[in-house]
Order: sequence, then structure tokens, then C-alpha cells
Amino acid sequence: MLNSAIDAAQRAQAAAAQAAARAAEAAAKAAAQAAAKAAEAAQKQPAAPAAQPANDTAARADAAPSADMGPRADMAMGIPKGAPVAAGAMKAGTVHAAFGPQTNFINPLTLGRFVDPMSTDREKQLDGEIRASLANKPAETAAYDRLLESDTFKKPGFQPYLSDDPGKATQARVALLEQVRNYPEAGVIDNLNRLGGRDWFKDQGFEDQQRSAKVIGFNSSATTPNANQTRRNTVDMVLSDKDLQLKWGDLKTPDKNDGSVTYGQAGDRGVLWWKHPEITLNRNLIDAGEGKIDPADTDALHVAANTLAHEVNHVRTPGGNEKSYGYFMDEYRAWYVGHQAENGKPPTASEAYERMQYLTSSTSGSYGNIGKALEDEGEPDAANIRAMMAEAMGLDPRTATLADVRDAGKFNNWNGAAPVPRSAKDDDPNNLDNHG
Ligand SMILES: [Zn+2]
Repeated sequence: MLNSAIDAAQRAQAAAAQAAARAAEAAAKAAAQAAAKAAEAAQKQPAAPAAQPANDTAARADAAPSADMGPRADMAMGIPKGAPVAAGAMKAGTVHAAFGPQTNFINPLTLGRFVDPMSTDREKQLDGEIRASLANKPAETAAYDRLLESDTFKKPGFQPYLSDDPGKATQARVALLEQVRNYPEAGVIDNLNRLGGRDWFKDQGFEDQQRSAKVIGFNSSATTPNANQTRRNTVDMVLSDKDLQLKWGDLKTPDKNDGSVTYGQAGDRGVLWWKHPEITLNRNLIDAGEGKIDPADTDALHVAANTLAHEVNHVRTPGGNEKSYGYFMDEYRAWYVGHQAENGKPPTASEAYERMQYLTSSTSGSYGNIGKALEDEGEPDAANIRAMMAEAMGLDPRTATLADVRDAGKFNNWNGAAPVPRSAKDDDPNNLDNHG
């Protein structure tokens, strides 16, 4: 779907995030006051370096709705910007160098500590398994070395006090390493390296980071079933468009009681001069965890390969969801490209007709304006949609009526290929493989 408007569920989520952000801000203020008091009480203590990484200072909209993220976010919030951590808590010289000198002192046991890259058991375990699989593979080893040289793998992660939670930076590394281990291919490793640099990835909770890394790994791999260029182009756009943000949401399907599922959506977020495209995938359809996307899990495969390509195609194509042939074509094209990405081949005529029926079946709900455009029989928009449907059915596009294209019994194109999408308006690039 192309949803420019935020649906009700997302509004609720945004409201919850704002409430959490306000609470976090209050907590940060309280902690700042406590820190100031502690510093005052311990003026005679030696100076210690360090401050918290900027990443930990901001409220995390993504973290807010997830109960398990609460404590970690609170801990991160608990450290006012510029507050020190005792030297004893700093393990590596690089950490000292990374942060400026401090004049205050706070008991590190009330805060937490920084964790060096690749110093946790989980990271070491994954590193060992990856290195074993890369033996005698110079190109893949070089890609892995590039990954370890990236900022993602150079900065320490903050670990809250009395928590086994290794902290955000370490979590991001673990999510990336899991998929490097699953797909020890140079192209995948380089794309995971790029993923580590995206702000939206850094902002995600651990389980969503695992989902993101799974999707990037699966689509980048040359060894998955039906691997194809549309998947790789799709990933390339997700990782190279600096404005585009990829998110995970608990997507509901409005206005439908037919068991249909919202796999994902694309739209613009922000206002006026500050706008960016955003793609949201349904997190309930892809399990978190260290594994690969299982191609036998049809929902997960659909979201990872098909929905992402579908929504990226929308981002590649200017247009809205007005009552028009252009909206019909945008949805048909996005469906066509998504099908190609998922299956490695274009759809058949019968698959295309089935989709066109779905798109035009209702004058309300998600695709309601497409149904309305077809029903407004005297308009050129309706004639163009009718012609496209007739072509898929094997009927004469010049003479087929509304009743004809609505009648599945008249379908007569069982061996045909789906009509190739075409440009519906002047600024429509008709991008059929999500190339840049
Ligand atoms: Zn769509």
C-alpha cells in the first residue's frame, strides 16, 4: 500500500513513543541532578575521562513500545551528557582517547561500563565461527576485514549496571555478525557493513536489528533460492538512499475483515521542507533471532523479498493514491516488481489478472480509489485500466467493457505472460527492477 497518512495504530505508537520520550527526558533530568550532587560530594576524587556516546542520549522512539527495551533505555538516559565514568571502568586506551578529560567523578557501579568491540563472549564466538568459514577465501576475508575496520566495530558499547544486556553498539555488531556467519559471501558482508552505518539501524532495538540484518543478508546473497538482480537493486537503494528509513511495526490491516495482511507500507514522514521516505515492514511476520530467513516460511519470504521490493518501487515512483489510472499502474508495477524479486521471474497473465481484480475489487479501503477509477466508466482513467485488464485476460483492449473485465469467466490467457507495466504519466520512470 502507499499510505501517505499515518494510520491509527501508528499514531497510537507515536503517542506512546512521545510519552516515553517525555518520561525519559524527566528521568535524564533527575539523573543529571543526582550526578551533580554526586560530583559535588566527591569533589576530591581524581579526574576521570569519558562521556557517554551521543547515541545513548536521545530518546528512542523504536524502543519505547517494546517493554524489554525500557530498562536499557532508562539506564542510558540515566547518564547526563558529559558525565564521567571512572577510569577503572575504561578498558581500552582507545576509549580514553575517544573522550575528553573530565573534572567530576561518579561511582561507575551506579552507571555501567563501556564494552570493547569484539570483547563479549557472543562476539568472540561468532568471530571464531566466521573466521573458520572464511579460511582460504581471500575476497570474503577482505570484506570481513573491511567490516571490522568500520565505525560500527571500532566504537565501544555501553553496558548498563547489573545487566547482561551488552548495550546498543554491541547488539548491532552481534546482529551483523550473525548474518555474516549465515552468508559468508563478500557481497553480503559489504552490504551488512553499509547497514551498520545507517542511523535507522542504530536506532532499532536488538530484535529489529536482527530482522533488518536478516533481510539485508537474504536479499544480498547469491546463494538463496531464486536470487536475482531486483533483490540486489532493492537492497542497494535501501542502503544508499540517505533519506530513506527502514522501520519495523506491528502493522494492522484497516477496513478489512477478510484475513488479509498488511505486509508493509511506504510513505513520506515529516512536514514541509523536512520530509523523508519511510518503509515500514510488519515485524510480526519475521522472527528475530540468529537464523536466516527461511524460504519455506512464506510470510517471512514475502516480507523480506517481495514487500521490500514493492515498497522500494513506490519510493522510486512519484505519485499518490488519488482516483486514477496512475495509482492503478503504480500498484500494479510495485506488485510486478515484488513478484519478480520474490520468485526470480515475472508473473503470468493469470497471476496479473488476479491482482488486478484485487486492486479494483472495492471502492473503499486501502485501494478504494483504484476501484472508483475503474467504475467511473466515461473517464480516460477507467478506459486505460479496462484496457490493461483486458490485455491480461486475452480480450480485445479496445472493446472490452467494465462487465467483461469484471467477469473472471471470460479470462482466456492461460499461457500468457503478465502485461509489462508501463509509464502512466510524464514523471513516471516505470522502474521495473528498482535500479538506481
Ligand atoms: Zn503498494
